[in-house]
Amino acid sequence: MSWIEDIISPKTRKWEEFYRNRWQYDKVVRSTHGVNCTGGCSWAIHVKDGIVVWELQQVDYPQFNKEVPPYEPRGCQRGISYSWYLYSPIRVKYPIVRGALIDLYREAKAKNANDPVKAWASIQADPVQRHRYQRARGKGGFRRVHWDELLELIAASNIYTVQKYGSDRIIGFSPIPAMSMLSYASGARYLQLMGGVNLSFYDWYCDLPNAFPEIWGEQTDVCESADWYKSKYIVDMGANLGMTRTPDIHFFSEARHNGTKTVVMSPDFSMVAKHADQWIPVHAGSDGAFWMAVTHVILKEFHVDRKVPYFIDYVKKFTDCPFIIKLDEKDGAYHPGKMVKAGEVAKYKDAENADWKFLNVDAKTGELVCPGGTMGHRWQQQKGKWNLLFQDGESGKDYDPELSFIDKKMVFCR
Ligand code: SF4
Repeated sequence: MSWIEDIISPKTRKWEEFYRNRWQYDKVVRSTHGVNCTGGCSWAIHVKDGIVVWELQQVDYPQFNKEVPPYEPRGCQRGISYSWYLYSPIRVKYPIVRGALIDLYREAKAKNANDPVKAWASIQADPVQRHRYQRARGKGGFRRVHWDELLELIAASNIYTVQKYGSDRIIGFSPIPAMSMLSYASGARYLQLMGGVNLSFYDWYCDLPNAFPEIWGEQTDVCESADWYKSKYIVDMGANLGMTRTPDIHFFSEARHNGTKTVVMSPDFSMVAKHADQWIPVHAGSDGAFWMAVTHVILKEFHVDRKVPYFIDYVKKFTDCPFIIKLDEKDGAYHPGKMVKAGEVAKYKDAENADWKFLNVDAKTGELVCPGGTMGHRWQQQKGKWNLLFQDGESGKDYDPELSFIDKKMVFCR
């Protein structure tokens, strides 16, 4: 039956039955996808005979804040096809291991009186055997085995490494907590209790934006996507929002109706570029230089040529600009060095954790001050000094941070 025949012969439109069956269900439950997207979108899961048959985006999100557009509909292409993944024939549901490795292990156990650690040691001692299973990587050949056997193999290899090299030679990571708290916690706890090295899951998929921990001391502590709507200027770089933040990209577009200017920096005209006012096709690897130039212009126009109160206030409150640093002389010029520690000056040398506290200068008095909220205050005996206020963490006195010494002649003595 061709399509033409079908249309001119309605009586034979059997295919309609297929579609009716396809969309049948006997109950609807609300759920989301526990994957690494962290979207947490709300979905109506349609179930028939205990099988997920299809999913539909929920459209009953509360509008908790009338100043931002509604959240819904939230979802993405990966999410709506998630049920295919559940029942995919290639979904990994059982422990599997490379055939080359399990064959070697079984043989070695038989030769070593069934002792798992001795068996593993014998494989490691033989370059030919090591070569055999290591070179099998990337070539498939997986075989289903029982958990007991595989756990024994893993335990034996770990014990062998601990005995021969020490527990800190065991290095690993477990899946991101956003995917599964249980699997994350079990692996992390195992490594830590054993004295192994617990890598971040970012080491697994290599997408940690390094600037996060370097600037703020912690990673991926980002704003709620709805907050994009309140920004006046958004620069998107290193993120293809339409692809990786599909349920939230609408806030990026909607922000423009709120007067926001949006810019996308990416070497290619990426999916998100079409949502932006401006596309800057920087060459890969040159974004650092670009941002240094941006910083130069900002500092020149808001701090050097004129002092803009909002900018000055922001920089004092939310950046580490007021912290004083050492100037190192090299080749006849001064270069920025390390931050000055409280323990390096007479005034604060006896402060608790003085090597973990840092210094500002009070613009009113020209005196050194030691603001609260640093690492040293976080871990000192006296609690409650965690907030970074314009207040000396040791004396409690208020102060106004100095941002520059360029017009002042100041000398600090240790
Ligand atoms: S972003 Fe996609 S995969 Fe993640 S919860 Fe939402 S629909 Fe599911």
